[in-house]
Amino acid sequence: MDSGAAEVAKPPPGGQTTYFDGASNRRRAVTLRLSDRLEISEDASTLAAWAYDDIRRADSPTGTLRLSCLAAPALARLEIRDAALAEEVLARCAKVDDNARGRRGVAVIVGWSLAAAASIVAVVLFGLPLAADRLTPLVPAAFERRLGDVADAQVKGVFDGKVCDNAAGQKAFVKLMTAIRESAGLDPSVQSGVLSSSVPNAFALPGGKVYLFNGLLAKAENADEIAGVLAHELGHLKHRDNLRGLIRDSGTSFLIGLLFGDITGSSVLIFGSRTLVTSSHSREAEQNADSFAIDVMHRLGRPAKPTGELLLRVTGKEGKGLSIISSHPLSEDRLARMSREDLPASRPPLLTAEEWRSLKSICDDARI
Ligand SMILES: [Zn+2]
Repeated sequence: MDSGAAEVAKPPPGGQTTYFDGASNRRRAVTLRLSDRLEISEDASTLAAWAYDDIRRADSPTGTLRLSCLAAPALARLEIRDAALAEEVLARCAKVDDNARGRRGVAVIVGWSLAAAASIVAVVLFGLPLAADRLTPLVPAAFERRLGDVADAQVKGVFDGKVCDNAAGQKAFVKLMTAIRESAGLDPSVQSGVLSSSVPNAFALPGGKVYLFNGLLAKAENADEIAGVLAHELGHLKHRDNLRGLIRDSGTSFLIGLLFGDITGSSVLIFGSRTLVTSSHSREAEQNADSFAIDVMHRLGRPAKPTGELLLRVTGKEGKGLSIISSHPLSEDRLARMSREDLPASRPPLLTAEEWRSLKSICDDARI
């Protein structure tokens, strides 16, 4: 492939540069080849090929050209420091500045930076929890989604990307989740999945992602038990509790990251994956999420009490450890409340017996 003496038939231009694939924090030394697309390869294998029209400029320090691609993972970046190579690439990317901030964008960024600056002052004056409360409503949805993507990549990293989705199980999960989401009044952009982990837990991430651990499914006896848990997590999403928790737990570095507009760089390291999964909410936030779940179950015509029973089964009477449980009302109290506010089922089960069995075995490998 490499023909140093090929002066006659000149190969497409190219050069060495740095690439982040968007899934991990690893910096990769890659070779660019400017053919009909921008080909990114490491050793002999092509990692990605970006269409020139999809390439956009990303924020970067002077002396570096940082590029993203509309068709690539949100966090994938190329960093070009060689000015000649940068020029060659830019010459081919007709739309590189297309999403550059228009006037409105600039206003948003300026306003947002002021909000971030103001909130740093708020942190100093009032401490973090209160600042998180004040800041959360100001965070633009688009930023929250980007944050969620970063968080998602980290969570997937921790679980080796092991998402359980065999066909029958996934079909049942989507059916259950769709019914709950619609009753909860949330739009279809909410993403959800089952992760392979024996820990009985469920959690939500900023930007609209809900994850259920296989371990909780294993302890559940019927779809109503799981539905209430998912509805509880959707309640946190609706109230943006996860974003608030992340701001609180990641501290001022979150705000500094915001000010410099770069959550893909160093500031991303602030999100310990532990924080993401175990981030605990205030007692009040938990009670609100429970109210939300009870409400959703009522609207679905299904009982809320089974969820309380599941929580108590998982934690025992002490109720310790898990994000859906920690720092909140004891499971006994929650069960008592869910029983008190329970209504008898007025509609058929959310899943058939067969679908429930499929969901329970969503992590079984379909190929075996
Ligand atoms: Zn909760």
